[in-house]
Amino acid sequence: MTQPEIELAAIVSDLFAENCFVANQKGSSEAIVVDPGFNHERIIAYLENKNLTPIALLNTHGHADHIGGNAAIKQKWSECPLIIGAGDAIKLTDPVQNLSRSHGADIVSPAADRLVKEGETISAAGFELEVYETPGHSSGHVIFLLKDHAPWIVFGGDVLFQGGVGRFDFPDGDEQQLFESIRSKLYVLPDETIVLPGHGGATSIGDEKRSNPYVRG
Ligand SMILES: [Zn+2]
Repeated sequence: MTQPEIELAAIVSDLFAENCFVANQKGSSEAIVVDPGFNHERIIAYLENKNLTPIALLNTHGHADHIGGNAAIKQKWSECPLIIGAGDAIKLTDPVQNLSRSHGADIVSPAADRLVKEGETISAAGFELEVYETPGHSSGHVIFLLKDHAPWIVFGGDVLFQGGVGRFDFPDGDEQQLFESIRSKLYVLPDETIVLPGHGGATSIGDEKRSNPYVRG
């Protein structure tokens, strides 16, 4: 089987510098969108400029800075299913739980079209994405592992960062759970696996196992 050549864009929001990722296979007009946060106009402009149609809208978790753009994308591409881990679905429509109210502006998203759990696979835009549950930053946080690319790619949300880890001081956060998620779901992946986190630059499993100041492999 030939490896797809992936076109990947990170669209970084002004507020909280959150990474929205858009991925498509070269030559295809279908794309996946991961964690559209603020500045949705930039995400939509990118899709339109490349003539891409989002086939799946994936949320790693339900915090406002990762879901703020869901509504605008669903409004434009209503057929595109919104997919989130079952445990974080409530945050989509609850400004208290998605933490927007504490920042002074209620942000809500349309409800999810599909709820996913550990072990499920999402097939969209020619990609197969495996779902892993990674609680600790948010209780229903999931990551999406793309294996049909060498090296593998993880859309990692706010679990493991380049030289850091996600916050665990939110109401449903838990430090031990977060570290356990990193050890049992991420650090078991091959060293060369690329991690695309929700904030900051890309990293690899090997680099973080060697040098992450919070959790070593
Ligand atoms: Zn978050």
